Amino acid sequence: MPATPAWPPSSLPRLFVAETLEQGAVLTLDGPPANYLVNVLRLGPGAQVKLFDDRTGEWLAEIEEAGKKRVALKVARQLRGREPVPDLWLLFAPIKRGRIDWLVEKATELGVARLVPVLTARTVVERLNLDRLRAHVVEAAEQCERTALAGLAEPVRLGALLAGWPAERALLFADESGGEPMAAGPGPAAILVGPEGGFTGEERAAIRALPQARAISLGPRILRADTAALAAVALWMGSAGDWKSSSRA
Ligand code: SAM
Repeated sequence: MPATPAWPPSSLPRLFVAETLEQGAVLTLDGPPANYLVNVLRLGPGAQVKLFDDRTGEWLAEIEEAGKKRVALKVARQLRGREPVPDLWLLFAPIKRGRIDWLVEKATELGVARLVPVLTARTVVERLNLDRLRAHVVEAAEQCERTALAGLAEPVRLGALLAGWPAERALLFADESGGEPMAAGPGPAAILVGPEGGFTGEERAAIRALPQARAISLGPRILRADTAALAAVALWMGSAGDWKSSSRA
């Protein structure tokens, strides 16, 4: 059986660009995006590409010039506006490379609005390459047809996070020691998942003391941190997110 292609042949290549898009704009791409269009996909003048900029939605563009290292594209027309993003943040303690890349990629696909690395007492990975994580956000958004990127915050210590917690945002804290089943209410929310070593008793007490916090159980098994994060996001998206609508914005 032939392998399923990553990009269905009927779909156009889709790229994030940093420039704000508008009808008639001409933009030049170089580096990996140009290499991808010209040397990997072997596209030339006249080929169509979808672009999005995280501000104005998705646009159809046409290649005007294709050099080996630079591509000039002209923006033809808007295809979609920027999608409304369900107001869910995912707060996670950094885990090892590979697993954290996977977590960021999948959380973007599932639809989170913002990713926040949280440093806890048992966090083993304290240095994060945010540029690499952001590249995973972009790649996942290109692939899953998001028109809005997930935001990626600087790492924050748990104490500082709790001290500045916004009054209107529910904090759904995945607690392996027990909690309620996920029942997402309306309004802004955040899911907090601990490191592989779990939260300390002190941290757990400080989180639970926050009026906006609710301890959530994800079942009787101890899940790895990345599994727990994605399971919790999926449960929230299914009940309070945008999974009920079947069409794309
Ligand atoms: N070392 C901890 C232990 O043995 O009890 C396990 C930590 S677990 C690998 C990492 C994080 O995933 C936890 O801090 C929690 O946020 C979340 N988690 C894992 N399983 C969970 C469950 N069944 N219910 C709620 N949260 C869970």
